[in-house]
Amino acid sequence: MVYTMKHLFISILTLIYMPIQAQHQIPEVIAQEVSTALTYFPQLKNTPIEFKFKKNIKKSTMQAQPTFGSLLKSKKNRSYVILISETVKISDTTFLTKDIPSPVLTGWIGHELGHIMDYRSRSNLNLIWFGFKYLFFDTHIIDAERAADTFAVQAGMSDYILKTKDFILNHSDIDADYKKRIVKYYLSPEEIMHLLEKKSKNDKDGIIKVTL
Ligand SMILES: [Zn+2]
Repeated sequence: MVYTMKHLFISILTLIYMPIQAQHQIPEVIAQEVSTALTYFPQLKNTPIEFKFKKNIKKSTMQAQPTFGSLLKSKKNRSYVILISETVKISDTTFLTKDIPSPVLTGWIGHELGHIMDYRSRSNLNLIWFGFKYLFFDTHIIDAERAADTFAVQAGMSDYILKTKDFILNHSDIDADYKKRIVKYYLSPEEIMHLLEKKSKNDKDGIIKVTL
């Protein structure tokens, strides 16, 4: 009897979680980090996202983008892919992304989910324009990267985001040019702390932040 109840309970749980899990395709080696990051973004539980390893990505370690075909569909049927480079750019040794410390990787994925939060409110045309500007305008890259960081911090991932930044900026093996890029385009630890202070004040005052 007890066994049957337990079995039934597990079956119901499986039924509840199956459709949610089906939206996200995650390679086994990073499943734990992705799942942790996703818990901070309940808004994305029904958004199709594929996490995919790639040999090399130009100038970055991870890249979130809408799938090409979904730009022809309506905004709510859009799906996304997060490309993850198999290696992190370093001067002489090979550094496998899957070997990055777990909280650092979680923060990295949180930042990418921040990009998707940013994309999902945009129209298809706006997104195409957004992609175009990202390729050609430095100031636009700064805005886009800061928006992603901001979404992740607002979602409650500041500890992870700070760990990711700390890892990149204080890791002597990582390429100096890559570090410079991080400093130029992303929120600094000080800015994240400032955001957090603002967030905790708003939470205390009962203000619900709608836009970023
Ligand atoms: Zn980014």
